[in-house]
Amino acid sequence: MIVSTLRLPTLQMAPRSTSSEIDALQARILACRACQAAGYVEEARPVRHPWTPRQRLMLVGQAPGALTHARQFHFAGPGGRVLEQWFEQAGFTPGTWRERTYLTSLTRCFPGKSSHGKGDRKPSPRELAQCRPFLDAELTLVRPRLIVLVGTMAIEHFLGKRPLESVVGRLIEHPERRYLPLPHPSPVSRWLNQANHQHLVSRAIALLAQCRAELEL
Ligand code: SF4
Repeated sequence: MIVSTLRLPTLQMAPRSTSSEIDALQARILACRACQAAGYVEEARPVRHPWTPRQRLMLVGQAPGALTHARQFHFAGPGGRVLEQWFEQAGFTPGTWRERTYLTSLTRCFPGKSSHGKGDRKPSPRELAQCRPFLDAELTLVRPRLIVLVGTMAIEHFLGKRPLESVVGRLIEHPERRYLPLPHPSPVSRWLNQANHQHLVSRAIALLAQCRAELEL
């Protein structure tokens, strides 16, 4: 089993968070319309995930897709079902992965479809910068022991630019938390459907199972 040890800057430990602190942060996020005011998105409608003190696992994606925007919960589309299967293969009790995980994303509002019509538009650097304080505040309050990074943008945000092949199937240790990179779980992903890449995903699922046991996730 491969475990890499990439050293990252030490984060400050925060005092134990309370439900009211998370509620206050989420209220600020839900009220945000900055990207709509700036003309970046058509409709700013931030997505919120319910927090519980039991969540020591955080999952960070890129941005809400159209179904997540419409239904107002993260990974509401087919990718969510793939993620659910991966979590169950890692030993999570069926039907519990959403309540055991704090689901969030780099930006919180659907960016719209890409200009070439394939898939969703990637949030721009300005949108990422505008939304980043919310993610930083969530990291401080939730204090996850494991962060599952879903997709290249989330991986790049935390670990720097690197090919998916070099990080999927690895666990990256940090003094206060671990990072587990995963590809985007879209069932139509060409990357995901290559046999050698499925092997990497299987290895990542085994590492998730290991973390679940060791960290009591
Ligand atoms: S993406 Fe983030 S910064 Fe932009 S409007 Fe939504 S919540 Fe606000």
